[in-house]
Amino acid sequence: MRVLVVEDEPKLAELIRHGLRKRGMSVDVAGNGESASVMAGATEYDLILLDVMLPGVDGFEVCRRLRSQEVWSPTVMLTALDDVEDRIRGLDSGADDYLSKPFSFDELMARVRAVTRRGAPRRPTQLSVGELTLDPAARTVERNGEPLPLTSRELSLLELFMRRPGEVLSRFELLEHAWDNAYEHRSNVIEVYIGYLRDKLGRETIETVRGAGYRLRT
Ligand code: CA
Repeated sequence: MRVLVVEDEPKLAELIRHGLRKRGMSVDVAGNGESASVMAGATEYDLILLDVMLPGVDGFEVCRRLRSQEVWSPTVMLTALDDVEDRIRGLDSGADDYLSKPFSFDELMARVRAVTRRGAPRRPTQLSVGELTLDPAARTVERNGEPLPLTSRELSLLELFMRRPGEVLSRFELLEHAWDNAYEHRSNVIEVYIGYLRDKLGRETIETVRGAGYRLRT
């Protein structure tokens, strides 16, 4: 396993490198955000340990950049700030997990095992299909950069389609993922909400596939 450690404190960087090497990993170290971005873009790392507080470009920005450059290496953020806001920012910028400093090496290794088990599939923080961009964290949708006013339920429904563009989704799948058991199912609730989405996105955006369901045109 090839690991990139991004850490500006040389002592801590060396400690982490030493610990990982002892466990058979190959480790490169970047001391700042700029070199981290370059290195992670050039080598397909199996794991990135990314400090948040870095001189210049911080860890959040490094993570955002890498994800926008389609670099999907599993990433664990290391933060000195035991701050909920920071953890949220880290995860929303595309990190897979976080660990607050000081951390136990055993816990770090457990998190590393957990995130690397999931592999490195494409997992953008924002969904883009055609002219539409949906941000699941901010709960916003834009068309060509113009915000679209969707209700929460409409947005959830659109998110399902945008996660599987071009695929036919059955009424059952849509119900199962966008509604919960507490909701009193009207038999035509899907049709009603597809209608709302079509009114706001344009009728041609969502296609009816007879006998099968609905499909988001890509
Ligand atoms: Ca630091």
